[in-house]
Amino acid sequence: MSLSPVAAAPANAFTDAIRRRRTFAIISHPDAGKTTLTEKLLLFGGAIQLAGTVKARKSSRHATSDWMAIEKSRGISVASSVMQFEYDEHVINLLDTPGHQDFSEDTYRVLTAVDSALMVIDGGNGVEAQTIKLLEVCRLRDTPIITFMNKFDRESRDPTELLDEVESVLGIRCAPVTWPIGMGKRFRGVYHLLRDEVLVFAAGEETREQAVERIAGINNPELDRRFSEEMPELREQVELLRAASHPFSLEEFLQGQQTPVFFGSAINNFGVRELLGALIDWAPSPRPRPTTGRTVMPEEEAFSGFVFKIQANMDPQHRDRVAFLRICSGHFKRGMKIRQLRLGRDIQVHNPITFLAQERELVEEAFAGDIIGLHNHGSIQIGDSFSQGEALQFTGIPYFAPELFRRVRLRNPLKAKQLQKGLQQLAEEGATQVFKPLHGGDMILGAVGVLQFDVVAERLKTEYAVDAIFEAVTVQTARWIQCADPKMLAEFTRKHEEQLAEDAGNRLAYLAPSRVNLDLTMERWPKIVFHATREHA
Ligand code: GDP
Repeated sequence: MSLSPVAAAPANAFTDAIRRRRTFAIISHPDAGKTTLTEKLLLFGGAIQLAGTVKARKSSRHATSDWMAIEKSRGISVASSVMQFEYDEHVINLLDTPGHQDFSEDTYRVLTAVDSALMVIDGGNGVEAQTIKLLEVCRLRDTPIITFMNKFDRESRDPTELLDEVESVLGIRCAPVTWPIGMGKRFRGVYHLLRDEVLVFAAGEETREQAVERIAGINNPELDRRFSEEMPELREQVELLRAASHPFSLEEFLQGQQTPVFFGSAINNFGVRELLGALIDWAPSPRPRPTTGRTVMPEEEAFSGFVFKIQANMDPQHRDRVAFLRICSGHFKRGMKIRQLRLGRDIQVHNPITFLAQERELVEEAFAGDIIGLHNHGSIQIGDSFSQGEALQFTGIPYFAPELFRRVRLRNPLKAKQLQKGLQQLAEEGATQVFKPLHGGDMILGAVGVLQFDVVAERLKTEYAVDAIFEAVTVQTARWIQCADPKMLAEFTRKHEEQLAEDAGNRLAYLAPSRVNLDLTMERWPKIVFHATREHA
C-alpha cells in the first residue's frame, strides 16, 4: 500500500462529514429478524414514517415469484436498497442485502461496498447457512462485524453455547458486551459488561421508541429486590465471563478478528440502541480503498468511487438502469463531471439518486461512504471505477463462484446471436454469469440465487426477444483457473476440456461436476490455482 500523493484536506467541515459517516449492511439468515431490526434502526433514526414500509416491501416480495412481482419488488426496493438516516449527529447508510428468493450475487457484492456489518442471529437457531456464506464474503475484506443475538424474548439456546458456535463455525472471536438475564417468558433484560449496568426488559411497541430502565452496578440491592431469582446466577456468569471470555478490543474488532456481541429482541426494540451506539462509537467511518495503483483515502479532495450493483428495469418503458456507486473519496456535487475510466468518457451527473428516507430524492452533495444512483442505459458495468481523471481501478469487487447452474437452449436456433448478445449484457450487469464450454455446446448460466434464472429468462424474452429453455446440468461449482506455467496450463486444458469453459470476460473456468471431483482435481494439479472469486476487470 502506498500512501496517497494526493492532497488531503485539513480538518474542516469536509473531513468532519466523512468522519460522521457509517456505511454498513445487515447479514443474517432468512427470518432471523433483519427486516424487523432495519425498521427499528430507522425508527430510532427518526425516519418514523418508515416503520412498516420495510415489512410491506417484504410481504410484496413474498407474494409470488412471477415476473410482475419481481418487477414490482425491484421497483420498490430501489428506495430501500440503500437507506440513509441520521442518528446522534452521524449519517448512517444502511445497505440492504437481498435475501429469501431474491438472494443473488448482489447480496454478496453489497458487502464489498460497506465498511462494517451487523450480523443478526436468531437465538433459537444459532448460526445458519446463509450467515456462514455472507460472513465468508465479509472475511475477504476483514470487515468489522457487530453481532446481535435476537429473539431472547423467546426460548433461546444457551448464550454461552451461541458464542461457542460463532467462534467455531464462523472463526471469529466473540467479546460479549451485553449478557442476557433469562430468556423467553423469563427474559428480564441484559447486563452491560462495559458499563456495569442492567437494562431492564419491557415489551416494546411497534412504532414507538421508549426509554429503557437502567439499574447501575451489578451489586445494587435494587436488583436483588426486583430479580431475586436471577441475580445469583447472573453474578456467577458475569464472574466467569470476565475471567474466561475475550474482553472487547477495538483494534481486533477493526481488523475483523473479534466481534462485540449484544443480546436483545428486535421486535421489542430491546438492545437496538446499544447496537447503534456500537456502530457510532466503534464501527469505522469510510475506510481507505485499494486500487490497482494505490490506496485512495476518503479525505482526498478529488472524487472517486466504484459501481457495486446495477438495477435494471426500474421503468420498463425507458429501459432505465440505475448503477449504485459507492463514493470512496471527494465531495460529490450535483451536476459534477466524472470520468468513467473503463470507457475513458466523462459524464455529467445531473440527476443522481440518493436514498434519504424512503423517497428517491436528488442528491445535491455526497461524501465518501455515501451511495449515489446513476441512471444509464447499459453503459455502466459492475466494477466500473469513476474519478475526476486519475486512472484508479478499485479492486475487491469480485464475481463469486456460482452455486447453481443451468444449460441454456434456444427454442428458435436462428436467435443464437441475440441470445449471445443478451447474455453478454446481462452478465456485464451482474444479473447472471455466463460460461461458454471449450468443447462447444450450449452456454451454461451460473448464479448463487435461483431467482436469478427466472429474471434472466424473462429479460431475454422482453428485452432481446429470445425464448430460451433452461435445463439442469451436472455442474456443482466453478473455479477460475490460473497457472504461471503455460505448458502446464495447456496440458491441464487438454486433459479437462470437457470441464472447462470461458466466462463473459474470456477467463478460463473449471466447472466441477461435484465437490469430490473438484477436490481430486485440485489435488492432482497442485500448481494450478483454483480461484473461488474473480475480480471484475
Ligand atoms: P428477516 O427474514 O430476517 O427479515 O426476518 P423478519 O424481521 O421478517 O422476522 C422474522 C420473524 O421473526 C417475524 O415474524 C418477526 O416478527 C419475528 N421476530 C423478529 N424479531 C423478533 C424478536 O425479537 N422476537 C420475536 N419473538 N420474534 C421476532
